[in-house]
Amino acid sequence: MQATLTNTFHNTQVTVAIMGELPYRLTKDQTAKVKHALCGRKGCTCGVVRGPAFDSLRRKLEVLPDAYMDGSGSTWSICSVVA
Ligand SMILES: [Zn+2]
Repeated sequence: MQATLTNTFHNTQVTVAIMGELPYRLTKDQTAKVKHALCGRKGCTCGVVRGPAFDSLRRKLEVLPDAYMDGSGSTWSICSVVA
């Protein structure tokens, strides 16, 4: 399964692999890729993931801000397919 995340402020998008069941928390590598692809601007307040998200079947996905359990930073989780 793949998730395409978008940023309507910068008009960017990025696709990441969902390696497991939902809810799926992005890995640190995926988080870095998403931040770089969707924004990449130091000090920007756009929020990075800012727009609709879809899977490879163009179903809408719910994506919410998340954090790593070990306190090492913030990320996002792909939570569910929106019916
Ligand atoms: Zn930005």
